[in-house]
Amino acid sequence: MATTNNHNSSSAPTPTGIRVVIVGAGFAGLTAAIECHRQGHTPIVVEKFPALKPLGDIISFAPNSSRIFQRWPGVAEKMDPISLRPPGFTIKSFKGDTLYYQVWSEEETSWGVRFDGHRGEYHQIVFRHAVEDCGIEIKLGAQVVDYFEDDSEAGVVLENGEKISGDVVLAAEGVRSKGRTTVLGYEDAPKASGYAVYRSWFSTKDTVAKDPELDWLIKEGDQHVAWLGPDVHFIAATLKGGQDFSWVCTHKDDKDIGESWQWEAPLSDAREVLKGWEPNIQRILDRTPEPLIDWKLVYRDPLSTWISPKRRIALIGDAAHPFLPTSIQGASQAMEDGATIAVCLRKAGKQQIREAVEAFEALRYERVKSAQKTGEQTRDIWHKADFGAAKKDPESFRLRREEWLLNFDAETFADREYDRTVDVIREKGVVEARALHVPEGRYGYLEYNG
Ligand SMILES: Cc1cc2nc3c(=O)[nH]c(=O)nc-3n(C[C@H](O)[C@H](O)[C@H](O)COP(=O)(O)OP(=O)(O)OC[C@H]3O[C@@H](n4cnc5c(N)ncnc54)[C@H](O)[C@@H]3O)c2cc1C
Repeated sequence: MATTNNHNSSSAPTPTGIRVVIVGAGFAGLTAAIECHRQGHTPIVVEKFPALKPLGDIISFAPNSSRIFQRWPGVAEKMDPISLRPPGFTIKSFKGDTLYYQVWSEEETSWGVRFDGHRGEYHQIVFRHAVEDCGIEIKLGAQVVDYFEDDSEAGVVLENGEKISGDVVLAAEGVRSKGRTTVLGYEDAPKASGYAVYRSWFSTKDTVAKDPELDWLIKEGDQHVAWLGPDVHFIAATLKGGQDFSWVCTHKDDKDIGESWQWEAPLSDAREVLKGWEPNIQRILDRTPEPLIDWKLVYRDPLSTWISPKRRIALIGDAAHPFLPTSIQGASQAMEDGATIAVCLRKAGKQQIREAVEAFEALRYERVKSAQKTGEQTRDIWHKADFGAAKKDPESFRLRREEWLLNFDAETFADREYDRTVDVIREKGVVEARALHVPEGRYGYLEYNG
């Protein structure tokens, strides 16, 4: 069944003859494409955006995904100099007292580096690697309007009527996924999570750098600071040696459930939410350019499945499992999906696509569900903090960093676990096989947080 392959480099993989159609060139889609290329398959990516643009602001990749970037020659090296590199993370109350200082060095030594930086800048590096170094075909301005599958192939229909088919389709279209409707057989409507995030990214020149009281954010190297208040938190970061500044403010909001990165809000909305917070916050707001991005956080209950009836279409990334930002895992789990499906397809071979797709879901499902949970827990700890009591136990504010989640290599795991997972799928089915991969360590996290 399994074929061996030269999958340790981005070049000259042994061809498997598997054609993979990928919908969406976000981090899920691009990772799947690059990893499929590394494993010897032939990916083609279709993306509705007409051009590559550096969209978004701060995004985080934890050690479990940074190791994926590190396997792509030259990519991590380009990401490193534009990444947030503070020695630690300061957690303060909204009145300005320091509650906890979390040092990163031990985690970095044991589990590897993180990459926190501008989504658009990272995205351009990865996109170019896919096209220029791997030679992957990416069709821009290609909006998918429908999916199809039968026993021997699957494909998509573009807005202009063109059909693109392959052995398997990966729907990596983000939170508004058409593929999800095909897989589930009904439209899965998002729910308001009850929270939204104001976001801003700007140059420090002529903004925060002009305020001598905010010198500490710029002169002492990269800074990463969170302020916690009642049902609100605010996180600021200085990057690139004081050149760029980013802040995000998560707050209660149940007005709208639009899932877009393009909504805007006036700064006055954030001022209202942050009224009475310490002077540093007010100064940052005074120096923030209009307008803010207003990102409404949606929630979806975990889907019953991520794979289609004929097992030739799989949802990956946000299309399968949107994350709350407090998990700091959405992009990392999207990348793990891409690395996993690429290994499964190689292990299965072109004649066993169905098994590859089922094994992908079984390998990923419980891990992703556990990772999603961590986002709700961190938010609740931060938003419902009793500052008086917590001062006696500053560790309680610590951003939980879990070995089962972060010290994980999706490619090695899929390679090691594939055969026994397929054995259980053959005997009992894919739902039963998911139970093989409930992460052991997750119980520590769940108990700690109640
Ligand atoms: C423009 C943009 C900006 C973002 N900015 C941030 C940010 O600043 N910080 C952060 O933490 N996260 C951001 N995100 C979300 C973050 O990138 C994802 O949560 C995470 O990386 C998982 O990625 P994904 O590939 O699953 O989904 P996404 O990143 O959402 O990518 C999905 C891709 O699919 C394309 N697509 C959708 N529908 C179709 C279709 N029918 N046909 C063809 N293509 C389609 C979209 O244009 C998009 O490029 C942003 C996402 C987008 C799209």
